[in-house]
Amino acid sequence: MRIPLCEPYIKGNEWKYIKDCLDTNWVSSVGTYVNKFEELVSDYIGVNYGVATVNGTAAIHTALMVLGVGPGDKVLVPSLTFIASVNPICYCGAEPVFIDSEVNTFNIDPEKTIDKIEQMVKKGNKPKAVIVVHLYGHPADIDPIAEVCKKYDIKLIEDATEALGSKYKGRMVGSLGDIACFSFNGNKLITTGGGGMLVTNNKKWADHARYLIQQAKDDPENFIHNNIGYNYRLTNIQAALGVAQFENIEEFIESKRTTAMTYNKLLSKIPGITVNPEMEWAYNCFWLYSILIDEKEFGINSKTLLEKLNLRGVMARPFFKPLHHMPMFRKYDADIHVADWLWERGLNLPCSVGITLEEIQQVVDTICEIREEK
Ligand SMILES: *Cc1c(COP(=O)(O)O)cnc(C)c1O
Repeated sequence: MRIPLCEPYIKGNEWKYIKDCLDTNWVSSVGTYVNKFEELVSDYIGVNYGVATVNGTAAIHTALMVLGVGPGDKVLVPSLTFIASVNPICYCGAEPVFIDSEVNTFNIDPEKTIDKIEQMVKKGNKPKAVIVVHLYGHPADIDPIAEVCKKYDIKLIEDATEALGSKYKGRMVGSLGDIACFSFNGNKLITTGGGGMLVTNNKKWADHARYLIQQAKDDPENFIHNNIGYNYRLTNIQAALGVAQFENIEEFIESKRTTAMTYNKLLSKIPGITVNPEMEWAYNCFWLYSILIDEKEFGINSKTLLEKLNLRGVMARPFFKPLHHMPMFRKYDADIHVADWLWERGLNLPCSVGITLEEIQQVVDTICEIREEK
């Protein structure tokens, strides 16, 4: 038995649309699927513009550049996230300021974010931007952060790479800040193999992003470039895959949510397990299903449980290791406790679109077996 964590689900028009690219010879960075994919995603989020990129990391990097983040600038970001939320800050020569998470959503703590901004403003050291991550699909409590950003003219970026389809107080994730970034990596809700997109309501930013990701061509005929650009454009073949995947997005989210509800029901009776939260103001796409293990009550800690699950073919994964521990980031002050607390306890369980009820039951049975053996 092997139950993977989160695999792509290819059951629709993927073959057909890719074949269309090959048949018509539109394989590279120009072609109708790129525009179509940008339109589909931006319409779905309810924003005016979408700019497709080679991956989510490139989308975040481009968003930071477009919003004017540069050398010496400070950017607030949660410590509990995937490293691709933070590396682009460094590509810009700026510095991350790590913020702690809150227990209920696993996301950046709004109060601590506001306190940090107020402190920095007082010292004349106003941050340039905040990156809010919607971790594992659960929306961050972004309104209080958006308010303080507005007050001090600080740019707000959503790293929505894990939360396509999630909603915050009824509003789509990805429409809540200045620019939002999505990823279509193989493990994300929908995939283009590798790919990403930034979305925004601001035409100037969208145009600038489009310019930067295509080598900053000022006069393409005569090869005139007046700025350093990047080769970050998504190809037509990848976009074709994305268009086909997108046609099934509602079904994918439905599957993720059903899986989460099933796990919640089966796991909530087991002592020592806290099931995946969903705040009353949130609609979670449940990209990755998460649990917290309390060692005292459960009998073993999350790391031991993880090892034993993996040995038995249940491909659970630990939470991201909080990034202020990484050698290149240790030089930055960080007052972080909750993120570490969550990291010690957190596990993600298998939840591919298309996972069967039997497989979910097997995951739960295996967890119970391991608990009883201890
Ligand atoms: C996947 C992911 C990214 C980056 O996406 P890629 O397409 O893999 O570059 C960024 N941030 C978070 C939180 C992610 O999970």
